[in-house]
Amino acid sequence: MTRTMRLAIPNKGRLRDTTSSLLSDAGLEFEKSDRTLSVSVRNVDLDLLFVRTEDIAELVSDGTADLGITGQDLLAENGVDLPVLAELGFGHCRLVAAVPKASPAEKLEDLAGARVATAHPNATRRIFEERGIDADIVTLRGSVEVAPKLGVADAIVDLVSTGSTMLVNGLRQLDTILVSQAVLIGSQASLEARSAEADAVVTALTAVTEGRRKRYLLLNAPASSVGAIQRIIPGMGAPTVVPLADDTMVAVHSVVDAGSIWNLLPDLKAAGARDILVLRIEQLIP
Ligand code: AMP
Repeated sequence: MTRTMRLAIPNKGRLRDTTSSLLSDAGLEFEKSDRTLSVSVRNVDLDLLFVRTEDIAELVSDGTADLGITGQDLLAENGVDLPVLAELGFGHCRLVAAVPKASPAEKLEDLAGARVATAHPNATRRIFEERGIDADIVTLRGSVEVAPKLGVADAIVDLVSTGSTMLVNGLRQLDTILVSQAVLIGSQASLEARSAEADAVVTALTAVTEGRRKRYLLLNAPASSVGAIQRIIPGMGAPTVVPLADDTMVAVHSVVDAGSIWNLLPDLKAAGARDILVLRIEQLIP
């Protein structure tokens, strides 16, 4: 008998809670425990392995887990080439090269011959090589941003989301060498042998991530405004137009990008829309 499908997820760190919310929002019921290594999902035939974020690519690669959730930066650092089944829309960060404000360097190529401190040596070395830059990569496990002040390095490569830590440490960003977010990865062997089970997990998780990117928009408007409103909200296919008891009025329902709401509202009001409701979507399966 084949064993239950295993999904490896972070047991601590920045991606732990966001991953756990994604799984809960997808309808998986499981015990959230800091101490156990593995739990069975109560309502679906799936086991969760709680492991260190940086070990996940390796565990999926060697087949210990069939699927995993980790950062794209860690895939690059581990140098494993695994299928990315979905970008999950959280854990956004960038791997950035930075120098002290007073440094003469203006572009990444100016770091040729420099000492570059980083906790991401493999990804940094590979990206520098790809760009033909021969730098001396100094591996540090922590406090990378103080390395130039300590005289340990001329530049650093570090993960940033806002960039404020670099600013506080008197550093200037030179270049983004990698853009990352959390992703769902799969082992090639499992994807071939258990494709239906893997697809079910991909569908359930992307239903949530797609839903988060969208909003359900409802509004009332004069029937004569429908053409103008439809031009403003292309939505997913055509909007739904429902007649109201007052036959000069209609209700319009549509799904729009969450990020576009701010710009849409003034145009919709100008076109005659009123009683506008903007609702979150729990899951969206196109
Ligand atoms: P952890 O070290 O366990 O907290 O997890 C770090 C992972 O979170 C990284 O490998 C990235 O994929 C992601 N991440 C998102 N934003 C940041 C950030 N500002 N700094 C470091 N890691 C980040």
